[in-house]
Amino acid sequence: MKQMLLGLMLLPIVSHAQLPSPDKVEAGSGPISIQPITHGSLVLTWNNVTIYIDPYGGGQLYNGIARPDLILITDIHGDHLNPETLSAIDVDHAAIVAPQAVVDQLAPNLKDKATVLANGSSISKSGIDIQAIPMYNIPDDKDARHSKGRGNGYVLTLGGKRIYISGDTEDIPEMRGLKNIDVAFVCMNLPYTMDINQAASAVLEFKPKIVYPYHYRGQGGLADVEGFKKLVNKGSKSIDVRLRNWYSGG
Ligand code: ZN
Repeated sequence: MKQMLLGLMLLPIVSHAQLPSPDKVEAGSGPISIQPITHGSLVLTWNNVTIYIDPYGGGQLYNGIARPDLILITDIHGDHLNPETLSAIDVDHAAIVAPQAVVDQLAPNLKDKATVLANGSSISKSGIDIQAIPMYNIPDDKDARHSKGRGNGYVLTLGGKRIYISGDTEDIPEMRGLKNIDVAFVCMNLPYTMDINQAASAVLEFKPKIVYPYHYRGQGGLADVEGFKKLVNKGSKSIDVRLRNWYSGG
């Protein structure tokens, strides 16, 4: 096994090969495939619909992945709205859903494909219900890195499953109050979002069936996601905490 891994490492660099293998979650009309890309970026595929969330990290990370039918963007910062990556992927068939502040900054060809979704609003695209959830820092004052109303977290409903993507947020009441979440992607990186204690406490309150720590590289390096898993499972054994390497591609 070790030799096989070494062999793989000696192959010419194809970044896609470094990504964790996708996970599957059973849903109506077939399984949902979950492909971690990097940091806050992931690709969901369900019922022949490919959804890119916050595409970032450069186009080569998306080699071998189907082009997007839907692109969701959460916020204006470069690790979420990334013009370089957006210009490197095939967006010809993609609809974009994003908050106003993001749409304002899109290149004209992308702006034409974009629908603005504000906190609290919903829209349906390709058979997927998309609900925009607030994401912000506490306190929500003028110094906040993420002010309330600018960015969107999302709850997607596809094949009867509800998937929460936190975006960059702290453990806000809107997250704690979520109901019936099957899969959650929850950020944890200081000083930008929250620490593992806040994240674990929130997760124990809204109790998703499955949770992925994502967006966990901060100023001091990677957050202690193993510690997060321990905290969550100390409070509830039934929450499936899935640790994946979100930083294998850079
Ligand atoms: Zn971010």
